[in-house]
Amino acid sequence: MKGVTRRQFLRSSSLGLGLGLAGGLAGCAASMKGDFAPKSGRRVVVIGGGWGGATAARYVRMADPSIEVYLIEPNKEFVSCPFSNLVLSGLRTIESLTQPYDGLRRRGVKFIHESVTAIEPDAKRVRVGEGYLAYDRLVVSPGIDFQWEQIEGLPAVKDTVLHAWKAGPQTVELARQIQAMPDGGNFVLTVPPVAYRCPPGPYERICQVAWYLKTNKPKSKVIVLDANQNIVSKTALFRAAWQAYPNIDYRASNKVTGIDTSTREVRTDFDKVKYDVLNLIPPQRAGAIAVQADLVGADKRWCEVDHVTYESAKQKGIHVVGDATIGLPVPKSGNVANNMGKAAALSIVSLLNGQTVPIMPPGNTCYSWVSDREAIAVVNAYKIENGKVVQIEQKLTPAQSASVAQRAEGWRQSIWADMLS
Ligand SMILES: Cc1cc2nc3c(=O)[nH]c(=O)nc-3n(C[C@H](O)[C@H](O)[C@H](O)COP(=O)(O)OP(=O)(O)OC[C@H]3O[C@@H](n4cnc5c(N)ncnc54)[C@H](O)[C@@H]3O)c2cc1C
Repeated sequence: MKGVTRRQFLRSSSLGLGLGLAGGLAGCAASMKGDFAPKSGRRVVVIGGGWGGATAARYVRMADPSIEVYLIEPNKEFVSCPFSNLVLSGLRTIESLTQPYDGLRRRGVKFIHESVTAIEPDAKRVRVGEGYLAYDRLVVSPGIDFQWEQIEGLPAVKDTVLHAWKAGPQTVELARQIQAMPDGGNFVLTVPPVAYRCPPGPYERICQVAWYLKTNKPKSKVIVLDANQNIVSKTALFRAAWQAYPNIDYRASNKVTGIDTSTREVRTDFDKVKYDVLNLIPPQRAGAIAVQADLVGADKRWCEVDHVTYESAKQKGIHVVGDATIGLPVPKSGNVANNMGKAAALSIVSLLNGQTVPIMPPGNTCYSWVSDREAIAVVNAYKIENGKVVQIEQKLTPAQSASVAQRAEGWRQSIWADMLS
């Protein structure tokens, strides 16, 4: 420590800790120039600290602590989309869905709270700020982004029209607007065409808002403009749940084609619908970085991957997990993203250690809250056959119940721990 006084050292090291250097390079964008963290051993870089990415980072560290793991995620805390529809009905706060990344830091995961701006597969590095970070294997789990251009008038107003399809400030703002809406007002929700994040999510949201309005604003309506021909998941169970909500006006095959915020109207092929509060969930594709890095397939929307290792069909050494993948036959769910994160992590560790890659078929359990205390669920089991994920069976709960809601709570606690502890 030549030339550095004890006081200077303590000051700089405590500053370093404050910036998150103990767990990475958080908040240091200005210092990210050139190769800002030269690689000295084997390294996995993960893009995105959501359901897929956080799980992958955790499992690589658990399976082989000698592998260095960097997780690059702009948000300083994890916010869960599952259960976020309950924020709209006032049954939960966004704070109760927000978790720190401390558990992953304790496992030695190094954080960079920035966005990756480019992937350079040939050089095996990602661009962050003005610098780059090298990897041996890359996990890409950026979730979804929106196809704003598919709805006329939307690109110009996209910052003011709420999707609330990424839990956070938009969820809180939508809840506020619903609470402020006068009794007798129309809440309009638009469902995008498949494939989109969380097939049952919009229908759970309809239940939660309808429950809130029935309880607090009995003259108000929930008008649903669904681009699909029918409820796309748990159809009969949602239909049964909606019996309790005469305030739902459900219109199938009503794809939104345009919006005019000055007249507070959305357009479909047949109709114009006035709204007091609008929740427009646009059509979706893989997160922008996956599109930009040309990891998406011919549809220019979703990434094709190997069903065992989750390695990209287009780029060697890059594994894509979560909603950004084509998904089928698995749904775009947090549960599946978590399963994919584990399988990709253990494949990567095996590949880096010259071992046989384990075969880990995914599974999916998805709960939907249909009132303040009851839920429904679907369970899907899969196998891997000839290198492809194939569904074995699907089971639905016989009816909505408070005990299914209790199981949903248990699922939430255990899967959060499986990602973040
Ligand atoms: C209302 C709602 C309810 C839901 N309910 C359920 C449920 O009950 N059960 C269930 O299983 N699933 C549910 N889901 C689906 C679930 O949230 C998603 O399937 C899951 O989040 C997908 O995980 P992911 O890792 O692909 O994406 P995400 O969890 O969205 O994580 C992506 C992360 O990548 C980061 N990122 C993006 N681009 C970059 C970049 N360039 N550089 C660095 N970081 C980047 C983002 O900031 C984000 O944190 C629900 C979704 C919604 C919207």
